[in-house]
Amino acid sequence: MSIGVLAFRGEQDALERWSPTAEYLTESVADYRFRIVPLTLEGMVSEVSRDRLDFILTNTGNYVVLENAFGISRLATLKVRHLDKDFTQFGAVIFTRADHPELNEIEDIAGHSMLAVSQNAFGGFQMAWREMIDAGVDPFADLRALDFSGFPQDDIVHAVLAGDYDVGTVRSGTLERMAADKLIDIGKIKLLGARQSEAFPFLHSTRLYPEWPFAKARKTPEILAQRVAIALLQLQPESEAARKAYAAGWTIPLDYGPVHELFRQLEIGPYEYLKRPSLESVWREYRPWIIFSLVMILALIALAAMIGRANRRISQSESRYRDEANQRKQAQESLAAHKETLETRVRERTAELAEVNASLRRSEATLRAIHDITTDPDRSFETRLDDLLREGCRFFQMQFAATVVIRDGDVRLDKRVNSGAEELQAMAQRVANEVARISGTLTIQDFSDADALADSGCAGIASGSALGATYQVEDETSGCILFCDLQPGRRIFTDVDIDILQLMAQWLGGEIERAEINRRAQEHRAQLAHVSRLNTMGEMATGIAHELNQPLTAILNYSNGCLRLLHKQGDSNAELRDAITKVGADAKRAGDIIKRLREFIKRGELKRESFEITESIEAAVEMLRRRLLQNEISVATHCAANLPPILADRVQIEQVVVNLLLNAIDALQVCGPDSKRIEIEIDSSADGHILVTISDSGPGLPADTVERLFDPFFTTKPDGMGMGLSISRSIVESHGGTIEYQLDERGRPGFRFSLPPT
Ligand code: ADP
Repeated sequence: MSIGVLAFRGEQDALERWSPTAEYLTESVADYRFRIVPLTLEGMVSEVSRDRLDFILTNTGNYVVLENAFGISRLATLKVRHLDKDFTQFGAVIFTRADHPELNEIEDIAGHSMLAVSQNAFGGFQMAWREMIDAGVDPFADLRALDFSGFPQDDIVHAVLAGDYDVGTVRSGTLERMAADKLIDIGKIKLLGARQSEAFPFLHSTRLYPEWPFAKARKTPEILAQRVAIALLQLQPESEAARKAYAAGWTIPLDYGPVHELFRQLEIGPYEYLKRPSLESVWREYRPWIIFSLVMILALIALAAMIGRANRRISQSESRYRDEANQRKQAQESLAAHKETLETRVRERTAELAEVNASLRRSEATLRAIHDITTDPDRSFETRLDDLLREGCRFFQMQFAATVVIRDGDVRLDKRVNSGAEELQAMAQRVANEVARISGTLTIQDFSDADALADSGCAGIASGSALGATYQVEDETSGCILFCDLQPGRRIFTDVDIDILQLMAQWLGGEIERAEINRRAQEHRAQLAHVSRLNTMGEMATGIAHELNQPLTAILNYSNGCLRLLHKQGDSNAELRDAITKVGADAKRAGDIIKRLREFIKRGELKRESFEITESIEAAVEMLRRRLLQNEISVATHCAANLPPILADRVQIEQVVVNLLLNAIDALQVCGPDSKRIEIEIDSSADGHILVTISDSGPGLPADTVERLFDPFFTTKPDGMGMGLSISRSIVESHGGTIEYQLDERGRPGFRFSLPPT
């Protein structure tokens, strides 16, 4: 069995003091072995709390604490033998030096210094504490100093006597023991609050309290406890166990109520919970907790702030969310509305697109038809125009179509298709007037809606529809193409319709222009051919006259000679003379006829005008283009800058160029396809004459023919007339110029003619 003993003077002391008691109990209580377990105050609490002890022997204060906390219960109270006296109670002294001038009563202690054993020592401090509180002195608040020295208590007595402290407190009996041991002179000690108690002979300043109890742990069986209690009560004062324990034995357990009262009053031990703590004590006692709590509070405050902020944010975002939700709802509503409109629009647009597609298909078909009509080489212009207008009527879904000629302010309906009622014709005329006036494109879906036209040439047209576009010939508005109907447009006219209308008008303008150009070219060619014929005739007449003049003169001379001969021979044959006279007269007449013919042909006057020589050259090349292409001949023209115009007969000069080019084409027949080249150089001489050189990559002339080149009828070609060069020379010379054959610096043959400037 373990007996936990409070070893307030150390383990050794405890073992020495109480081991005999354990041995005594081992002897007295059969079947049990008792042993002493020395413990400090803390050790005691810890062992009891873990139920590791069977019996507890501790001081009065500690017992009350353990009784309260762990249910230990006392079996006996120690009967102390001190200075040959036995007693079961004890108290404490509060003392000062006998000569201390200020201290007489306990209440005087305030403001002085005090030394005690320990704050937890029951006899060594707590008893005195209670008395001081009763005297109105709080040792922790009112003293100048309060220190605790621990055991032995003798040190406290010495310290007070030495004057280190004003007041000391020790367990009762200590002073008497020290005096008996001659350690102190008790006369030098003054007791504060001294009390007198019956049956308690020692000096004491406090109430008395029961001595140490011997207690059992809660778990220790009652029977065993009884046996131990009985053994203790039977312990003899003279026994080893009693002696060593400075005891006279054990008595029945006393009342420990006063101890409870002390604890309750001081609010310590089991009554600590009653303490109304001072700030400082609380701080001292609970500093880590307070700091921890403060930190926690701060953390909580911070957390609360954060939560608050988060809440604010949440409520803000909630309101934002609500706003957003409202907005989204509105947006959804408007989206739904929009969707509906969109769907309607999409439907409309789809219908529109379908219509556009259909119209595109129609347009495509029409464009193809227009292309076929306008490019068909088998149809005449008139047929093509007719077909085009019909196609337009079909495409625009119009009743009537016409072409209109606009000339010098006169607007006249020309070709008509589906011409109907007079009303329609009159309407067409008005629309034509308006189209001519604006000189552009006009589309009227419905005349009844076309307010803008009220003041125009179309005023008075009550209903109907029309499309019209002008065309240009040589940059001049010269007509228009027109579609009309007495009904409003059967379909909406689109940009594509306008494009197709303009395309038709452009085609018509282009065709008319081309026809005009062709007509002019034809006219020009005819003129050139006429001039060419005249020149040829003139040149031939000159040649013939030149050739016939001599024989005719000879005939005349011979006839005159014959007449003279007849006359000499006697003029006998009148018939012969007459015949010879007639021969002479007819020869003369023939000569005169030829002379007159030549003069008649030569009389043709030059039609001089001022123009650029390049124009004649371009016209000649253009006229021969087909032949040049057929013969795979390339023509390069080089023209010097800033040449002056010439004053000449445009057609005559063009004929010269044509003659020279024709000769070059003939000469190039013998050349291979890649080397057929004609070069035309136009330049001016130092004296301001225009020089035109037409050379070719052909073989040129044999040297012996050069002399006769320009003679009429000189030709080296099987079907040649030999008139070209002689006509050309006549023309050039009649303009005051010259023409000659030459080889250029690269040895190429060519002809150069010059013409005087204007
Ligand atoms: P034709 O062409 O009818 O023969 P021309 O008076 O125009 O009459 O030409 C006379 C001759 O001059 C030609 O037959 C030809 O021999 C010669 N001739 C003219 N031009 C050239 C030329 N570019 N190259 C070679 N010979 C030419």
